[in-house]
Order: sequence, then C-alpha cells, then structure tokens
Amino acid sequence: MAPVPMTVDELAVLAQGLPTSARCLNRDCRRKCPRRPGTQGRQKLFCSSSCRLTYFRERHALLDAWERLEASLSADRRPAPERELRKLQKWIEWLLLRYDVGDPSAVGRAAAAPSTVRDEYGGKSE
Ligand SMILES: [Zn+2]
Repeated sequence: MAPVPMTVDELAVLAQGLPTSARCLNRDCRRKCPRRPGTQGRQKLFCSSSCRLTYFRERHALLDAWERLEASLSADRRPAPERELRKLQKWIEWLLLRYDVGDPSAVGRAAAAPSTVRDEYGGKSE
C-alpha cells in the first residue's frame, strides 16, 4: 500500500515535532549539532573538526581490520579457525553500523584515511 500524502495540519505537527539538533556523530562526544534552518546544503554532523577526524579514523581502522580479516580467511595459513575470524568480522560489522557502513565489502579500499581526504560529509561543514 502506497503512503498517504500528508494534510496541512499533519505537516505542521511534523515540523513542530522534529528535533532541531542532533548528537555529534563522534561516539565519545555528547555535544549537539544544531540544525541550521536557513541552509539548503549539508548540515553539520560533527561538533568540531576534531570529532570528524576521530570518527573517520575509527571508521577507517574498523574497515581496515575487517578487510584484513577477510584476507585472513582466504590465506593459505589462517591465523585462527574460520569461526573465530568470522566472529570478529561480525563484531566489527556491528560496530560499523554506527559509521554508516552496512556492508563493509561494498566500501572496499576506497575508504581512505581522513587525514588524506576531505570526507564525504564535507570538510567545510565546521
Ligand atoms: Zn563532537
């Protein structure tokens, strides 16, 4: 069944109820990023460039570990039984969901270190 279009009243209620700020995406940070109402472009996802860097370093480290585990699975001499390696991969996949990564195999080596690339959320958003 297709979604039903909203009424004028429903739109007003929705706009009133949406949060005007959201937590910084750095998992160790408790600060909030206010939504910039006049902005048509990107909204801030991090409270500071330091938090943005931390986030992408952690994301990169997790992706790197996941890929190393993937390589270990097909290695001639596995460092651990397959079950152990897969268990660690699943653990990392669970963590990566917090970094907007649902499928690490789809990200691949393109996930460069944040110090060498302006991340996809825009380095100028701070
Ligand atoms: Zn922060």
